Amino acid sequence: MNAPLSSQAQAELNPLHLELAARLRRETQGEVLFERGARGRYSTDASIYQIEPVGVLIPRTSADASTALNVCRELSVPVLARGGGTSQCGQTVGAALVIDNSKYLNRVLDFDLAAMTVTVEPGIVLDHLNAWLKPHGVWFPVDVSTSAQCTLGGMAGNNSCGSRSIAYGNMVHNVLSIDALLLDGTAATFAETSRMGDAPPRIRALMETLQDIAARERAEIERMVPNVLRRVGGYNLDIFHPQSSRPYTADGQVNLAHMLVGSEGTLAYTRSITLKLSPLPAAKALGVVNFPTFYQAMDSARHIVALGPCAVELVDKTMIDLARSNPAFRPVIEKALIGEPEAILLVEFAGESQDEQLASLAKLVELMGDLGLPGSVVEMPEAAAQKALWDVRKAGLNIMMSMRGDGKPVSFIEDCAVPLEHLAEYTSQLTDVFSKHGTKGTWYAHASVGTLHVRPILDMRRDGAAKMRAIAEEAGELVRRYKGAFSGEHGDGLVRSEWVAWQFGPQLTRAFEAIKDAFDPDRLMNPGKIVRSTKMDDRTLFRFKPDYRVIPLTPVLDWSAWNVNNDPASDTVSDAGTGGDPAQGLAKAVEMCNNNGHCRKFDAGTMCPSYRVTRDEQHLTRGRANTLRLALSGQLGQDAFTSDEMRATMDLCVSCKGCKRDCPTGIDMARMKIEFMSQWRQKRGLALKDKLIATLPRWAPWAARFSFLFNLRNTLPGAAWLSERLLGFSSKRTLPTWRNDVFTDRAASVDAETADVVLFADTFNNYFESENARAALAVLQAAGYRVHVARPATDDAEPNRPLCCGRTYLSAGMVDHAKAEARRVVNALQPFVARGVPIVGLEPSCLLSLRDEFLVMGLGDDAQALSQQAYLFEEFLASELKAGRLDLKLNPLPQKHALLHGHCHQKAFDAVKPVQQILALIPELKVELIESSCCGMAGSFGYEASHYETSMKMAELSLLPAVRKADADTVLVADGTSCRHQIADGSQKEGCLPAVHVACVLQRALIVS
Ligand SMILES: Cc1cc2nc3c(=O)[nH]c(=O)nc-3n(C[C@H](O)[C@H](O)[C@H](O)COP(=O)(O)OP(=O)(O)OC[C@H]3O[C@@H](n4cnc5c(N)ncnc54)[C@H](O)[C@@H]3O)c2cc1C
Ligand code: SF4
Ligand code: SF4
Repeated sequence: MNAPLSSQAQAELNPLHLELAARLRRETQGEVLFERGARGRYSTDASIYQIEPVGVLIPRTSADASTALNVCRELSVPVLARGGGTSQCGQTVGAALVIDNSKYLNRVLDFDLAAMTVTVEPGIVLDHLNAWLKPHGVWFPVDVSTSAQCTLGGMAGNNSCGSRSIAYGNMVHNVLSIDALLLDGTAATFAETSRMGDAPPRIRALMETLQDIAARERAEIERMVPNVLRRVGGYNLDIFHPQSSRPYTADGQVNLAHMLVGSEGTLAYTRSITLKLSPLPAAKALGVVNFPTFYQAMDSARHIVALGPCAVELVDKTMIDLARSNPAFRPVIEKALIGEPEAILLVEFAGESQDEQLASLAKLVELMGDLGLPGSVVEMPEAAAQKALWDVRKAGLNIMMSMRGDGKPVSFIEDCAVPLEHLAEYTSQLTDVFSKHGTKGTWYAHASVGTLHVRPILDMRRDGAAKMRAIAEEAGELVRRYKGAFSGEHGDGLVRSEWVAWQFGPQLTRAFEAIKDAFDPDRLMNPGKIVRSTKMDDRTLFRFKPDYRVIPLTPVLDWSAWNVNNDPASDTVSDAGTGGDPAQGLAKAVEMCNNNGHCRKFDAGTMCPSYRVTRDEQHLTRGRANTLRLALSGQLGQDAFTSDEMRATMDLCVSCKGCKRDCPTGIDMARMKIEFMSQWRQKRGLALKDKLIATLPRWAPWAARFSFLFNLRNTLPGAAWLSERLLGFSSKRTLPTWRNDVFTDRAASVDAETADVVLFADTFNNYFESENARAALAVLQAAGYRVHVARPATDDAEPNRPLCCGRTYLSAGMVDHAKAEARRVVNALQPFVARGVPIVGLEPSCLLSLRDEFLVMGLGDDAQALSQQAYLFEEFLASELKAGRLDLKLNPLPQKHALLHGHCHQKAFDAVKPVQQILALIPELKVELIESSCCGMAGSFGYEASHYETSMKMAELSLLPAVRKADADTVLVADGTSCRHQIADGSQKEGCLPAVHVACVLQRALIVS
């Protein structure tokens, strides 16, 4: 059910667009989004452009999409189909009705294993399709880097290509047919012309027109279409007279679906696609060739390709160094290196037999000897080592994209393709072009097909547009000299459509216009792309338009690390705080999001739980970052930062910090939410429930003293209902039970002077589950440590109130109060830190805030020093184990299986492995990690009535199904307080064991004989 349009939207939209919205609401079942925030969120893709759409339709059925096309034609409103919105060239932005297929139109419609085909709706994500296909031993092999988020409709729209395109080809070589709708409502299955005999008259006429154009232009096609494997610009008119050495079809037939592939939604709307599948290769071998010069790497590529590999991928020196500088990746990359190479090529062989792949690897070694580089190949026959190295290659790109400052790697000549024999000259000369314009670029990717990715660093707010054009023109000259393709992978869009005429000449450009008009005489399908385009450097279409301004704002946290300038020529970054951001770094941090859409992934990582359950752009890291950016730059109207729209956008962010870790550019939405909450609270105040939660550390001592009274909420009939009505706590849950055996009241503690470990008990483990803190104390003591229990400093204004990290205040945006709590902690622990005594805590979200938020609250050097010595219980034990100092005698448990759920913040700080390491010390215990995202409870989030459903959906994604399978032989381990509660609330199986903190598991292993 669509909510009524707000008065603001009604005032902003013109009568035509209001009518469009009204008709879509009436005539479709889809979600109709015409509010300013939604339009803003759909105004960008992963390019440098930003154009506000007319509105957005999220169709529930293909019939909805069909109706929308009809309405748009009647009202003369342009239409723009969209999948993941990850395009780099601006083909997925426009002043049109955006039809987002990714939420509902994502099913597998038909699968024929014998025929090796699958038919899918356009919104299905590639990784989801391949996960579905895997049990059948087949896959769809166009393995683009954005496989976790891009859709098959978008891949077909762009004629996408993967790392292994040398073996499998581009999209166009793997699409068998497309069921499409023209704007006039004509539906047809575009396939081999021989199968289209019964097509409607409109389509038969269209086919004749296309054949006529192709026949007329034959000589020009042969003259102008480059003969390279990678060429995705313009329309595929050469399906009638193929120019590439890789044929479009095995039997030479013309397949009209291939005219739609790469057409960027400008010709027709794709309802479903039938794809050709490939067998999953049974065996793979990887050879890493080390080169003393970049030029030699490029020069060798053509010889290596002759050996028949399925991938030859470049990693240059900059990327090697980036990987080396990361402690997690260093050991992996080091294993692939011989000395100090200037570049490496990852050469993969794949097929049915391992022996054959090993034989190919041996040939590679021999070849490199013949080329004068004996001993340059690191052989990697094992799957685990191969996967680790491919992951490093991906991560290197991510680090490059996380560059701070206004200069950013910009994609506009990123995928020019040249024949392999010219690759060395081309890359060398393009590098010279970059330095001439005071910039540089890092090279990587598909050496196998002459498509090397490179993004020169440009400042698109200042002189970037002029430099972009100059570099593009000079790169174009090189591409022409070497008979390459200007657009070899990512399409035309806004950045390259003007280059279509340059590439194909005026005559073929006119032919392309005729093709467009034959399909779409109204010119309403994604206009301005491929033909009749705007200029690439039209700054009015940029995300950072000439009038882009950030509204001055004083953030409550320190964002100065983002407030810098970078200079690619000298490779320097200015000092923190000198970047000139009127929002003191907050705006620049938000602007880091480049819309690559990785937050739409569903893999083992955490990011982004709210998207995983809603599939809404609004409840996605990218949607939030875009909304914040638009608000901070005044593009969503006055006071947008504290608007209801912004509140709704941030509402389902569970502050899991998944994005902090998984987002390639390091968007830290949890921290940004603190800023938002702070501004919101100052302007709009807090609800009573939020105040109660925030101030919990203050009243906790009283609640513990009168625990029987406070716990009546869970036991007295009607109390839960009342707490929902009056306060907003979900009546479907019990609240944590107050205990009067508060840990810090009773714990035996050695004197501060003699301590060799300090145990920091957080508010939750102190008042609700003090057995965890007692277990930790017992384990540490059993291991021989003299443990001091952290208490307030003697000069603390409230010496009797236990320490607290201030997390509950942070969540409510009460940053001053959080700071006050943090200061108490820093003061109390400073003497221990000064003596090098480790500080050990139990609750991940609390302890890890000492290493995270404490550092951006202006607490000075003491907080810095504390962060270096603050450990989770399991991290401390694991580090002692590594240092050979851990002396802990553990016995087998009755259970032989431990099922572990990692807290989101543990995952964000790479602190799950230590739990696994420590549990593995228990004899006979098999430890298994649940591949889960956020549990959904997330502090107080899941306790709130308004979030209950979302919270449970998050838990049901993977955690609860895994937990329900646990049997009596299993011990469930979860270190997060809220995770344990969610498991208890959600598992609800007779005899299902409660989850426990790792400290309790170890304590049991101490005493079991
Ligand atoms: C970091 C990064 C890495 C990338 N790596 C690669 C790579 O390795 N290889 C590669 O080829 N590309 C790559 N890309 C580009 C992009 O991710 C791919 O082209 C991807 O396939 C686009 O899919 P999407 O679902 O996001 O499409 P969108 O961007 O949503 O749409 C792409 C085009 O298809 C059209 N379209 C979408 N659905 C339909 C439909 N139903 N009917 C008609 N037209 C439709 C759209 O209008 C648009 O013109 C990369 C991008 C980024 C940001
Ligand atoms: S939030 Fe991060 S992962 Fe998501 S689109 Fe932006 S940069 Fe990519
Ligand atoms: S903190 Fe978590 S919920 Fe919030 S945007 Fe990041 S990944 Fe999504």
